Amino acid sequence: MPITTEDTIRWIRRVAQVLHENRDYLTELDSKIGDADHGINMDRGFRAVGEKLPDAASADIGLVLKTVGMTLVSTVGGASGPLYGTAFLRAGVATSGKQELDEAGLVAMLDAAVEGIKARGKAKTGEKTMLDALVPAVEAAKQALAEKQDLSQLLQTTTSAAKEGMERTIPMLATKGRASYLGERSVGHQDPGATSSWLILKALADTCA
Ligand code: ADP
Ligand code: MG
Repeated sequence: MPITTEDTIRWIRRVAQVLHENRDYLTELDSKIGDADHGINMDRGFRAVGEKLPDAASADIGLVLKTVGMTLVSTVGGASGPLYGTAFLRAGVATSGKQELDEAGLVAMLDAAVEGIKARGKAKTGEKTMLDALVPAVEAAKQALAEKQDLSQLLQTTTSAAKEGMERTIPMLATKGRASYLGERSVGHQDPGATSSWLILKALADTCA
């Protein structure tokens, strides 16, 4: 079964709920290697998104995702607002005019989002950022597509790879973003942005399960 516009809206509403529930956890992670605002930023952004979402009857997947992106850019300060904003805007461009996404469409959407984050943040894997969860997730998604896994299976594979990537940020030394100011003291803590990225992908897998 493909992902519909309605599923996309359900996903985003679930993300808003999950980020709200994890607001203190994400902020706690950011207190270790940043400025203790990641959960606050994400919760504020997705709360605003919840108020702006179009209804499925008058939208397509691209419009929903572009709305998310524009809202995040305008409501979230800090590094994560423009980065996630760009990701959702690019995802929206990749799905422009579409009412349904099959496995290939989904992988193209995820790929566009992650390429947007790379371009915007000028980071790569191994620097202890959200990309350490997202890049392996997209690689796993491409592999799952090549293996012809069905949509819900593909999303499980993708989410597991994101979780492993997130856990691998713990021993990493941060060289991008605010955490890089800490140098060696950034080692031993899980990256907050990698954690929110895993939660966002997990919400999609849960929506489509
Ligand atoms: P800020 O660091 O401005 O306080 P947040 O706390 O909301 O913003 O977000 C911090 C997260 O942003 C980090 O945990 C990291 O995953 C991500 N991040 C920071 N800089 C970059 C970058 N250049 N590329 C990708 N992700 C980044
Ligand atoms: Mg912060």
